[in-house]
Amino acid sequence: MNAGTAPHTIETVGVIGAGTMGHGIAQVAAAAGYKVLLRDVDLDSLARGIQAIERNLAKGIQVRKLTEDDRDSTLQHIRGTTKLAEIANADLIVEAAPEQLELKQEILREVETHSGKPFIFATNTSSLSITEIARASERPQNVVGMHFFNPVHIMRLVEIVVGKATSDDTVGIVREVCGRLRKVPIVVRDVPGFASSRLGVALGLEAMRMLEQGVASAQDIDTAMELGYNHPMGPLKLTDHVGLDIRLNIAEYLYRELGSETFRPPEVLRRLVSEGKLGKKTGEGFYNWNNEKQLSVVSSP
Ligand code: NAD
Repeated sequence: MNAGTAPHTIETVGVIGAGTMGHGIAQVAAAAGYKVLLRDVDLDSLARGIQAIERNLAKGIQVRKLTEDDRDSTLQHIRGTTKLAEIANADLIVEAAPEQLELKQEILREVETHSGKPFIFATNTSSLSITEIARASERPQNVVGMHFFNPVHIMRLVEIVVGKATSDDTVGIVREVCGRLRKVPIVVRDVPGFASSRLGVALGLEAMRMLEQGVASAQDIDTAMELGYNHPMGPLKLTDHVGLDIRLNIAEYLYRELGSETFRPPEVLRRLVSEGKLGKKTGEGFYNWNNEKQLSVVSSP
């Protein structure tokens, strides 16, 4: 078999990292009937990931979306491990380790060393270049982005990110996998922010500039998008959910990489971050989250 080509069928999915994204990816792959090997660096992190899957499944049963058989079958399809070598025999490896280029490249090199057969390496990076990550690979044609959204078992979108060397075969196979996971894939060229972050961040930053200019209150800007454009959540509320620090980092990155004024971080964002007002997780951002039933707007220009 030519080790450089993509596998024809995917039977085993290896997931690297059992954190926020990895446990969700393992869950949806197992629910779709794939044999799943979930790897984290230590037993505690692995246990936390498996417990999160169990909680998601219990909730699914509670709201009658899942049966107890569904839960048992999903859990039976997942095997946890701390040994990287064990997952190197997977046909598709989805990497959901922390967002560091060197770490992702090191993981890729390491699985290639252990693997004796062709596999697809899909990274769940939200901002790094697939082409850069693939430079660590001897088979860059098998490296692709599979950008899932949080929480993975609920959000339907997957951005398939195509690096310079990614082959059409690889894109075709991960597209099929997305279908089996009941996700809706879109195919995006490997550019900073892909499609989703670039558009979503642009909208959020413009909403902040409008707030600074006194065009309308935070609540009214959000209502404009919620009722006028049918967005489930306005851009400022969404920023509070994501975390203002995370949004600032992405804006700085896109501003640097794309050189467009659209992504220059607005003053109000910098100020709130420097005051430690990072959104829902700290109780305050553009809104006060201490009483979620009665959200009040705290941010003024
Ligand atoms: P996380 O910190 O919740 O989880 C990362 C996990 O990887 C941890 O459990 C950690 O112990 C483990 N890990 C570290 N080194 C490892 C290694 N060498 N091998 C195996 N496991 C290792 O991070 P996350 O939020 O799940 O993010 C993972 C990736 O997904 C990042 O690239 C991130 O940018 C991307 N992403 C995150 C979100 C999100 O909303 N959190 C959304 C889309 C994409």
